Amino acid sequence: KAENVSMFGEGWLKRVYEEKPVKDVYTRFPPEPNGYLHIGHCKAIAVNFGFAKHHKGQCYLRYDDTNPEKEEEKYFTSILDIIKWLGFEPWKVTYSSDNFDKLYELAEQLIKKDGAYVCHCSREEVNMQRGGPDNRGKRYACEHRTRPIDESLAEFRAMRDGKYKAGEAYLRMKQSLTDPSEGNPQMWDLPAYRVVEKNHHHRTGDHWKIYPTYDFTHCICDALENITHSMCTVEFRQSRVSYDWLLEQLDMKVPKSEEKGPMQREYGRLSVNGTILSKRRILMLVEGAKVGDRVIPPSVRGWDDPRLYTMVALRRRGIPAKAMLNFVEELGVTDSYTDIETARFESSIRKHLERTVPRQMLVLDPVRVVITDFTPEDNQSITVPYDPKGAIPGERSVTVGSEIFIDRADFREVDDPDYFRLAPNKAVGLYNVPFSIRATSFETDAATGKVTVVKAVKVPSSEKPKAYIQWVDAATGIKVVARQYNSLFKTESPNSLNWKDGSWADDLRPDSEVLFEHAVIEAGLNNLIKENSLNPEGSSDSLVRFQALRTAYFCVDVESTEERIVLNQIVSLREDKGK
Ligand code: ATP
Ligand code: MG
Ligand code: MG
Repeated sequence: KAENVSMFGEGWLKRVYEEKPVKDVYTRFPPEPNGYLHIGHCKAIAVNFGFAKHHKGQCYLRYDDTNPEKEEEKYFTSILDIIKWLGFEPWKVTYSSDNFDKLYELAEQLIKKDGAYVCHCSREEVNMQRGGPDNRGKRYACEHRTRPIDESLAEFRAMRDGKYKAGEAYLRMKQSLTDPSEGNPQMWDLPAYRVVEKNHHHRTGDHWKIYPTYDFTHCICDALENITHSMCTVEFRQSRVSYDWLLEQLDMKVPKSEEKGPMQREYGRLSVNGTILSKRRILMLVEGAKVGDRVIPPSVRGWDDPRLYTMVALRRRGIPAKAMLNFVEELGVTDSYTDIETARFESSIRKHLERTVPRQMLVLDPVRVVITDFTPEDNQSITVPYDPKGAIPGERSVTVGSEIFIDRADFREVDDPDYFRLAPNKAVGLYNVPFSIRATSFETDAATGKVTVVKAVKVPSSEKPKAYIQWVDAATGIKVVARQYNSLFKTESPNSLNWKDGSWADDLRPDSEVLFEHAVIEAGLNNLIKENSLNPEGSSDSLVRFQALRTAYFCVDVESTEERIVLNQIVSLREDKGK
């Protein structure tokens, strides 16, 4: 497909391949199973799985599970689920912890080669050795750096055997801490192993009291899995040096060559403005928070609340998987940061939906209209294409009867010359119906003053109306609950709110979700629900999506039942400047 050519066949991704143009490409997507994936991860999935697919290679899903304190089972399941939803299949699902024995063995090997030492300095002391708080001071070695190899080996085994508490001993790599010309902090004797207090691991149980660090684990796992192209985000650029250093020490890579072992390259992170992606902050939205005396209740229903930008939330909101991937593709992949606004994301999704989903008539806030001169001959089923422009195949039957619902916003009690929808003595067209209607009178509720019913008469089609509105047949329409969404926060940059003192909660929009409990939709929705096996998005995703004319794009929420259909707004029809 032409789109794939643009992403992998040119630019940064093409160059990465050309630097190591091997026949058998292996990549990996290595999430930490400590939270739900967010929109940024979608880029990482598209890059790693897509690269392998493009070069007819394979991509691993590797759970980077080296931090037993933060991992939970539910995250493992959700991560795989999202990858499959996006249309990818991991070649193998692996765990960094699969390699714990091997990693330990390699750590001993490194010590024996004088490439690592056990250090007992405190964090503060280590910071001083690394040039102090600003990293600009003189760097120096501690007494442990030159201890005999045998002693480090014995101490490392003692760490393994539980002699030390967390923070009392580290295995540190003997890199270039004392070389004044080495300006890269990643080379200043990084920790390789640490003692972990809460050390029960979901896969290796209570076997290990020490766990390897990212810097020690990642490159070795890449090498053990024969990864050819190890693509990560730009924050790891400086880590490339330590990545190569360690593999070279262990003879898993050859200096200044990409002939042997994995090649790390870094692409720009995707960051999205106007929403929150940080796990800690989303947690405060999901679970609520207590700051001092202030108790902040949950602001969303869960990690998959459609107002969030986690992948589970985007999926539930109705964003098609294909549209997610197209979006990443449109942004392209380079080695610099990609900073976008939520509005840009929405506009990309809108373009996709415009071309792919059927139209429906939905009335969010219904007012009953009685057509007083309606005759049995007017009662008819009209065949209407799913898309008036014909881009989406299929058609549905729409019934019009003597009573219909229109939206409260499409009727005015007092007419105005600049107003073109329904009002006393004014006519408006009804989509797909051969006649227009003119209001003759209306009734209001004594208590609320709200219009309860409008009476109208038919206007012959020879009199062309100035505007058309959507409507739903009262006899056959289906009651639904519709949820419309606005951004969660008043500010466009919620990341710059104060997340320490709880004042972020003052910026939450009370109308981030607007509920329409009494909405009605044409009976055809049930057919769409039945037909959804024809969904062009494929079997990994059976959500029913549609464009509600003059309203917004919606999908049928996964928790809908036959008795209670709930709709989620995917995106508005147009960019809403007032948001
Ligand atoms: P976060 O702290 O936001 O969850 P992370 O980097 O800690 O991000 P990981 O679970 O380690 O999350 O991420 C797995 C992979 O996804 C890594 O290769 C990481 O570089 C990549 N990734 C994470 N966030 C983004 C992003 N915003 N844009 C592109 N890739 C990302
Ligand atoms: Mg990470
Ligand atoms: Mg993380």
